[in-house]
Formats: sequence, C-alpha cells, structure tokens
Amino acid sequence: MTVLVQIGRRPPERGPAGPPGLAAETRVFRSAHGAHLFVADGSRIYDLPESTAARLEAWTAAADAAPHDPAAETALAAELGLPLWGGAGVPAPRIDGTPAEVPPLSSLSLNVMQACNLSCGHCYADEGRFGGSARAMPRATAFAAVDRLLAEAAPGAPVVVGFMGGEPLLARDLVHEVVDHATRAGAATGHPVRFALTTNLTTVRPEDAALFAAHPFTVAVSLDGDRAGHDALRTAPGGGSAYDRLRAGLDVLNRHGRPRHLSARVSVTPYTGKLKGILEHGIDLGFDEVGFAAVVSAPDPAYEIGAEAFSGFLEQMTECGEAALAALAAGRPYPFGNFQTAMLELHTGGHRPYPCGAGAGYLSASAEGGLYACHRLVDDPGFRMGSVAGGPDRAARAEHLAARHVDRTEPCRTCWARYLCGGGCYHEVARRGRPGCDYIRGWLAFCLRAYVELTERAPEFFRRTTPSDLPGDPAGLAR
Ligand code: SF4
Ligand code: SF4
Repeated sequence: MTVLVQIGRRPPERGPAGPPGLAAETRVFRSAHGAHLFVADGSRIYDLPESTAARLEAWTAAADAAPHDPAAETALAAELGLPLWGGAGVPAPRIDGTPAEVPPLSSLSLNVMQACNLSCGHCYADEGRFGGSARAMPRATAFAAVDRLLAEAAPGAPVVVGFMGGEPLLARDLVHEVVDHATRAGAATGHPVRFALTTNLTTVRPEDAALFAAHPFTVAVSLDGDRAGHDALRTAPGGGSAYDRLRAGLDVLNRHGRPRHLSARVSVTPYTGKLKGILEHGIDLGFDEVGFAAVVSAPDPAYEIGAEAFSGFLEQMTECGEAALAALAAGRPYPFGNFQTAMLELHTGGHRPYPCGAGAGYLSASAEGGLYACHRLVDDPGFRMGSVAGGPDRAARAEHLAARHVDRTEPCRTCWARYLCGGGCYHEVARRGRPGCDYIRGWLAFCLRAYVELTERAPEFFRRTTPSDLPGDPAGLAR
C-alpha cells in the first residue's frame, strides 16, 4: 500500500470521506514536481506515485462509460492507499448533504442609490434600477437596516455594512451619515463594524476619501481596461471619459486618503481587451488587487460570455495566472486577485457547500427596505428574504440553504470541483444556468498545479499573505 504525504502546511485534518465515487471525490493532476491527488473533501492535496496516478486515471476514464460500482471503488481506494474512505476509525466527511443551519447575520449591503451616472450595457443591475425606476434609499430605512443587522448579528461578532447601487456615491450624504450611525450603534452593541463600497469612482470627493481612510473600508472599483477599453464599455451620458474621471478619482484617494483595501474589479465581456494587459494596467495604477469576473448575465445578451467564449477566457486567465506564479515565485508582488484567492483557499483547505454567504450570513436591502439574498438579486421575488421592518425571513433562508446545497444539486453533486466552486453564483444560475463549468474546472486544475509549484518555489508567500488581505468577493461582503 502507498503512504501518501499531504502537501502544504495545513495539518492533516479529518480522514477519509464516503462515496459518491472516485471521479467525484478525486482529481489526479501533475506539476513540475510529479503526480498529485486532489481530494474534494477538505480540498486536500497529496503527492502520488506515478503508477498510482496512472491506475487511478485509467479507472476514472473507464468508469465514465460503466455503471458506478461503489464496492469495487472502495477496494481500489484501499489497495492504492487513497485517503478517501473505508476502515475502522475513519471520521465522517466534513461535508455531507445536510443543509447548513441559518447563521446569524454578519453582512448587509444597502442599495442606497438605485440609479447610476454611467450607462453600461453589461451592468447586471440595469444601472441600479433592477428593471424598475431610479430611486434612493430613505435615511430612516438605511438607519433601520443597520440597526437590524446589529440586532441579528451574533453577540460581539464583527459585522460588515456595504454600500451598493447603482452608484452609491450619488447618495454621498447618506453614506456618510450611515457610517457615523453604524460606528456609534456598533460601539453601543459591542459589534466591531467594517464597511465595503463598490463604485465607478467617477464622483469621489476629498471628504469621501477622508471617510474611507478614517474607517475600516474595503473599496472595489469597476475598471474595464485602459482608456479606450474602459470608455468603450462604460458610457458617460452627456459625453466625457469615464476613464478620465476614474483616474481623477484615484488622484483624490491618493491625496486625501486611501481605504484599507482598494481593489479593481474587471467585468469581462466579449468586447473586453486582453486580460493580461488590463491586469498589469490595474496593478500599475496602484490597486491593491485586480480581479476578473466574466459577465454571465446582462440585460443585453450581446455583453454575455457565452459557453463557447469561456475557452478563450480560460486561456487568458491561465496566462495571467502563469505571470502571477512566475512573479510570486521570484519574490515579486503580483496582486492578481483570482489567483491569490485560489492559492489561499487551497492552502487553508477551503471547502464549502455553497458558492458564497448570500441568503445565509449575508443579505442585501433594497431602497424600499426589502431584504434579498444578495446585491445582484435585489427586487427578485424568488430571492426575497424578509424586510428591514419585519426582519429576515428565517424560513425563506432555511429553504434557500436546503435547496442549494451543492451535494443536493445536479450536476454539481458529482463534480470534483464542487466544494471549491459551491455550485455557481445564484444570480447567474437563476438567469443563465451553468455555462461556465468547464471554465471553472479548467481554472481550478491550473490553480492546483500552480499551488504545488508555489509551495515548492516560494513557501514564504503563504507566510506573508493571509486570507484577510484578500476580500475575494468584490465588496468583501458575501464571505
Ligand atoms: S457549477 Fe459546474 S463547476 Fe461548479 S460545482 Fe456545479 S458542475 Fe461543478
Ligand atoms: S456569488 Fe453570491 S454574493 Fe456574489 S453575486 Fe453571486 S449570489 Fe451574489
């Protein structure tokens, strides 16, 4: 029997897990350092002798064409010494099909301004209107939403208040008032309060920069390329360059106060330029992190990345990932957000049965005070989860968590990437299904190889980078 050695500095946690099958539980991959085994349960990674890797690959390839035989798979796993399941003293898997309990609320985003000063064809929020009319959140609703978050949070737990839109800085006065109210109210209830804001940065003023610097703020800026690329996608009604205004906004932040974390978020459409150029442009502009998200669902389908375009997206993401790997291995910073987040997820054994905390610890409040699973699902009756006035709807959240557990979802139930992916963004799945699964698995397969190589070539990366450096979610809200 082979004795496998786990890679990375994570301690071996709990042991083998139960079926549904080798292809769903494992993935063989190779790096410059040999063959390796990824185990979905606990996102564990092991070195693997080449002979074992070859047998496992042959088995899973043949199993695709044959009926699933759990007994034969268990015997093979035991023979190969795979750390999966079987035998006395084997603990239960970390994730089984049991839905998560509804947790206390920990993040709430406020759609303070359901309107925008730009007009972008790829905006999931329909310029903030979500299919309705432009409107602002009343002050009383915003304050009540903060009070509701504090009342629903676990005693003493940190909470995040987010500002979304539309463009939240169009409701500048309200943002400032809410920060003041939340800071005071959080101090009174014993909850440390952090803030997150997503903006196009075209209207930021010195007093906003001072606010971001004075409080624990994460600010995510929408950046779609260089001047030509950004302006092609982000139209400023009435003329002018949205990019020039963003650059002026960056100057304001650099002169009057930067937030604790300033990231750039690139929405990738069929019209987006080369990703590596955009990534390095964002890094040159001084963002702490630059990340990409494919536009899967947009009011105008011409802006959506379709199933066939995902292979080109994967190619470009891998090119960016290779550049990050080379730089980090040489000890140079290269803040490619998607890559760094994946490295840390793998290193800490990240595994979860949901894509994010939407509908669980995270909710979003509409301008009228309705509560929804997340900021992209505002005004969607299928994701309504109570109201600020009446409180979160516990039954709706429990039902959401029961229905969307990745082990209860087809085709995710048998996908080896399921505990890293979580089954896909609810907003995208509800509108477009899952056109990007091959991309997700391809990106994760690249990340597995890159992780092994980074642990060999630059283990210090994992000592100096902590998950809290990398909010991951665009607004740092839904994790
Ligand atoms: S959404 Fe696709 S990639 Fe993600 S777990 Fe489901 S099947 Fe796998
Ligand atoms: S990943 Fe989660 S939080 Fe983010 S947009 Fe999708 S459902 Fe909302």
